[in-house]
Amino acid sequence: MKFVDEYRDPALAGQLLAEIRQTVTRPWVIMEICGGHTHAIMKNGLDQLLPAQLELVHGPGCPVCVTPVETIDRAVAIAARPEVIFTSFGDMLRVPGSASSLFMAKSTGADVRMVYSPLEAVALARQHPEREVVFFAVGFETTAPGNGMALLQAKREGLTNFSLLASHVLVPPAIRALLSSPTNRVQGYLAPGHVCTVMGWQEYESLAEEFRVPIVPTGFEPVDILAGLLMALRQLEAGRYVVENQYGRSVSREGNRAAQRVMAEVFTVRDRAWRGIGVLPASGLVIRDDLAGYDAERKFAVESIRVRESELCQSGSVLQGLIKPDGCPAFGRECTPEHPLGATMVSGEGACAAYYRYHRTSHA
Ligand code: SF4
Repeated sequence: MKFVDEYRDPALAGQLLAEIRQTVTRPWVIMEICGGHTHAIMKNGLDQLLPAQLELVHGPGCPVCVTPVETIDRAVAIAARPEVIFTSFGDMLRVPGSASSLFMAKSTGADVRMVYSPLEAVALARQHPEREVVFFAVGFETTAPGNGMALLQAKREGLTNFSLLASHVLVPPAIRALLSSPTNRVQGYLAPGHVCTVMGWQEYESLAEEFRVPIVPTGFEPVDILAGLLMALRQLEAGRYVVENQYGRSVSREGNRAAQRVMAEVFTVRDRAWRGIGVLPASGLVIRDDLAGYDAERKFAVESIRVRESELCQSGSVLQGLIKPDGCPAFGRECTPEHPLGATMVSGEGACAAYYRYHRTSHA
């Protein structure tokens, strides 16, 4: 197949659904890690077409959702400084921190600007040498290379008024933590296609073997997702546990070596807090010490900020696949996209937002 329409072909999707129904003989729980998958599943109603024995649970692969509340608070504190132009992708602006969001900071006078690329932020630093330009660099392995390249570009140009507030997290340590939990129910994974485009799928092989779970890097169209589920199901039914690549048109075993080199040049691996989940070992990327001048956390000394989370929000359980979004008592009541209590209701990739937007309940 060459064109996107073919990955949305109803006849092909119907054929895959029929194969899934024929293949499944007992209950299985499969997690789609990536919020992009969650939204594609909900948007296309795939969850309503699958056999009842196949339960999908939603994973922690939404970068906005897992950005720790203290990082939002640090962003707000930095943005409030008069010398700062704080830049971010739009989806971070409404994410609630302890007491404020970047959007609220902007409404009270902070110079917060939405950009479409980190290089736009570098251009702002070039145009405004008298100001400090900070870019909010969040995301998984997908966005880390681009953000790293922006930092290297600023360094090449000798710009000293540019920095990243970096909050990058890594997928394999999160899968390891979920699989190691005594409450784990997940038996197979759709691995995040975009992340695997950068990192390849080789780092998932040891996880599949150690925890005896099929892991299938999967694309984002309906036919991709159904094909990925069928591949995982066939393994489960046969008692096989390997990485099998559904997303061959974008993902290779080794991934994008040039992008991985940029990541290694700019970032180093550290333990990292995930919002609602807690600290996961070796799950984050921080800016290397030799580039500390480009690290907004160190430049603006905001590490000591204390935080407060909503007591109602159960996004940690949602992100670990322990409850569905409508299992949270605040869903659609105290918490809506207009008045979100947690990041999973704000983000374009958040599971709570997907359930709300597509009027879905877990019993539908
Ligand atoms: S519905 Fe709202 S309060 Fe409940 S888990 Fe989702 S974001 Fe948090």
